[in-house]
Amino acid sequence: MRTIEHWIGGHETAGSSTRHGTVWNPATGQEQAQVLLAEPADIDAAVQAAAKAFQDWRDVGVLRRARVMFKMRELIEKNMDELAGVVADEHGKTVDDAKGEITRGLEVVEFAAGIPSLLKGEFSEQVATDVDSYSFRQPLGVVAGITPFNFPVMVPMWMHPVAIATGNTFLLKPSERDPSASNLVAQLYADAGLPEGVFNVVHGDKVAVDAILDHPGIEAVSFVGSTPIARYIYERGSASGKRVQALGGAKNHAVVLPDADLDYTADQLVSAGYGSAGQRCMAISAVVAVGAAGDALVEKVRERSERIVVGAGRDARSEMGPLVTPEARDRVVSYVASGADAGATVVVDGRGLSVEGHEDGFFVGPTLIDGVTTDMDIYQDEIFGPVLVVLRTDTFEEAIELVNANAYGNGTAIFTSNGEAARTFQRRVTVGMIGVNVPIPVPMAFYSFGGWKDSLFGDRHMHGPEGVGFYTRAKVVTSRWPHVHDATGAQLNFPTAH
Ligand code: NAD
Repeated sequence: MRTIEHWIGGHETAGSSTRHGTVWNPATGQEQAQVLLAEPADIDAAVQAAAKAFQDWRDVGVLRRARVMFKMRELIEKNMDELAGVVADEHGKTVDDAKGEITRGLEVVEFAAGIPSLLKGEFSEQVATDVDSYSFRQPLGVVAGITPFNFPVMVPMWMHPVAIATGNTFLLKPSERDPSASNLVAQLYADAGLPEGVFNVVHGDKVAVDAILDHPGIEAVSFVGSTPIARYIYERGSASGKRVQALGGAKNHAVVLPDADLDYTADQLVSAGYGSAGQRCMAISAVVAVGAAGDALVEKVRERSERIVVGAGRDARSEMGPLVTPEARDRVVSYVASGADAGATVVVDGRGLSVEGHEDGFFVGPTLIDGVTTDMDIYQDEIFGPVLVVLRTDTFEEAIELVNANAYGNGTAIFTSNGEAARTFQRRVTVGMIGVNVPIPVPMAFYSFGGWKDSLFGDRHMHGPEGVGFYTRAKVVTSRWPHVHDATGAQLNFPTAH
């Protein structure tokens, strides 16, 4: 059985770890590797390596830091197939879907390659007689990222390219369910010329996470994962004096008005609801059909859902893969049962799906549930599987209220041909990322990614300008170079411009 080790100080190591986690092949249902689970001593070793590397990396010229990102960009493209294959094998998503994720991560590397422009400071000449003022931003030191299973390449890339390009050194604790991609990324950084210790990977579970949150040598923590853990990370990390951004779970609504193009909308809902087997933080999971849109829309989504080809991620014919673990599959199945028990109508039922040649894989087929109401578990909880639930409202106003009453506020979308309705929606919804006839409105790398309410703890979103702000702190210098004849004697009043 293959053992996946940590990457600390420029090479793979087992450190002091003796515990293991199981890495499944979700398509076959077989255990394919074991991942080491770090002890606090391993976190400490990674922090020491990163702290040592920071002493030099902070002084490396900004153009040289950018050039590592240019090289990294080239290497990711060159190794795209291998990286996507590793993601498909451990996560379960299709290879093409994995390439999409890697491409969106690559865009953050491209953004970070522009760091010389992004780090330009401000300068004000002559704010008082012979006095100049200027500001610039400096790296924090050792920073950490703790990431979820569902985007094993892209989500860490929301963090480390920006952190590293701004002059920090980085410790990544990826999900223990699909850990291999992170070691490959570490190898690519080494090949790109990044000095040892600037990027480290430590695998692990709660023991590793708690050691990160408590370690005095770590200045900031970026987290992406489920809401209960995000809240915990934010509270414990902040209590130990760190800067923390913690992105949580989601329940993303698509509001469909009767004037929408229903064929286009049904295509978009199926893509956004069932892509990656619904295991995306920006997946559409709740459809709010307004007025007359409902029956026709459900019928069009039903037809399309039933045609989706479900299979192994490595099989080029597959459009949708399995769930990540047996527990994830069982959880989704039990939610479908709970919806049926609560009185909802299961229009398309993906339970019990068997994929030929992969009978032990963790598959659940696309599932469509109509007649859902806001008091049901299948509406209130994040299911994180290929399940679309449909709610109905009589008016647009009620639809906005429904979206805003939900605890989550990650993404949402409106489908309509009415620009005024779209504008009202984008102004009034209490959600961070909004699509207008776009179902998965993930911002480009040069904007910032983040939700509202229970989808984000902390005030900075990821990558884009907010990412640069998160990984740096500002200095403002007020400077005067007096001539000898300027000596005017002491003045004890508070200084003002003159
Ligand atoms: P998760 O919260 O279970 O795990 C995320 C990370 O936290 C992992 O590295 C894991 O090892 C660690 N962790 C898990 N339990 C812990 C505990 N008790 N104490 C300390 N650390 C712990 O999330 P997941 O199942 O890997 O990923 C799916 C979740 O992530 C979904 O809720 C999804 O919505 C969310 N997500 C959100 C975004 C976003 O941008 N808001 C993006 C991707 C995923």
